[in-house]
Amino acid sequence: MSTLLVHNISLLATFDDQESEIVNGALFIRDGFIEQVGSTSELPNTADEVLNLEDHVVLPGLINTHHHFYQTLTRAVPAAQDANLFNWLVTLYPIWARMQPEDIYISTITALAELALSGCTTASDHLYIFPNGSRLDDQIQAGLDIGLRLHASRGSMSRGESQGGLPPDSVVEDEDFILKDSQRLVEQYHDPNPGSMTQVVLAPCSPFSITGDLMMASASLAREYGVQLHTHLAETEDEEQFCIELFGHRPVAYMEQVNWIGSDVWFAHSVHVNEDEIDQYARTGCGVAHCPSSNMRLASGIAPILKMLTSGVKVGLGVDGSASNDSSHMLGEVRQAMLLSRMGASLEGASLSSDDACPMMSARQALKIATRGSAAVLGRDDIGSLEVGKCGDFFAVNIEQLNFSGALHDPLAALVFCAPASADFTVVGGKFIVKEGHLQTVDLQPHIEKHNDRAMRLLN
Ligand SMILES: [Zn+2]
Repeated sequence: MSTLLVHNISLLATFDDQESEIVNGALFIRDGFIEQVGSTSELPNTADEVLNLEDHVVLPGLINTHHHFYQTLTRAVPAAQDANLFNWLVTLYPIWARMQPEDIYISTITALAELALSGCTTASDHLYIFPNGSRLDDQIQAGLDIGLRLHASRGSMSRGESQGGLPPDSVVEDEDFILKDSQRLVEQYHDPNPGSMTQVVLAPCSPFSITGDLMMASASLAREYGVQLHTHLAETEDEEQFCIELFGHRPVAYMEQVNWIGSDVWFAHSVHVNEDEIDQYARTGCGVAHCPSSNMRLASGIAPILKMLTSGVKVGLGVDGSASNDSSHMLGEVRQAMLLSRMGASLEGASLSSDDACPMMSARQALKIATRGSAAVLGRDDIGSLEVGKCGDFFAVNIEQLNFSGALHDPLAALVFCAPASADFTVVGGKFIVKEGHLQTVDLQPHIEKHNDRAMRLLN
């Protein structure tokens, strides 16, 4: 039995159903789960460990629903800096093909460290390339070593160039092997229980790198084991054209054809979806991982996120891979989501000055996407808000710093409007992952040197 009391919190934003924001708030966590939430005066004044968070805002840990950790090794690659999705991929596939098994562990530590330092407590990763004996097991180990909750995807590519796909044949895998390895990983690592640290997801990469047979077989396998399904969908106009030419359907209709519609499925991007497709997502429970920085970086377009929210679609936030962002800063991504949504509204010709319900995403809406929304997308009801019975996952930011000077009329909104800050504390299940701005679980400096060496080797 161990207890953690966090009290004197300047502002505790719970993101519960009432959207309660408690001034001088407190949390009491026992064995990883929240036992009490309220004002400091209402809660006990002692525990095994006590943290005084005067001058801090506390929020539920942010939840990242889409990433490719391995891409931290290929950030800002010159030849891929100014390319759209298909050209970017064709430039990077041969570089990624040189990865060694150790690269998976090292790049995962880098990405999870950045995420933890920006307020993230749960992350999903989409690993779909396994060159030279690389394994998902190394990523899962890195997740446990850092101490963030990880939804690790066994991704895959099976449709190479010779079959009309985009990736070179050298990076695709045999479909029987993909399915066998997926089953092994689910049996070995997937934990569906409340407070789970590791879940496994089946995640064929995209319509243009996978056969319909593998899509269908992955869906059957995932449903047999009760694990989630994830893929990229409707990211670019090129992809839409590819699907119409090859399958005779738009991307979402193709998903229906291969049994990929349901509440156990979430799609990264969904930039190019029409109103019928949005309704279909809402009716069937399909989730969306919104990745605003990546959509801007690759000039993919603007996802209609406010329309999705109004229609009742589950929307979460994702930083996407580090070769198309090129950052894993979750709080920064919340800001991008808010700003990009407003840009979308202005392009649609909305009258931003009218008194009508203005189609502007608010700071609180953007934060809700990254907490409650992301939890729903990952199929979890034990994270995403600070309420009794939920996981003791939160982050805290000191508001007495330059970034927020002059913005303390609304410290919660300031976290989104002002320059993205680092987390001073990040706690997962009552355990400190970041304390006073420092990562507790990994010695970062030697790690960064090792990570840079591996990145250099890949490019040279
Ligand atoms: Zn992606």
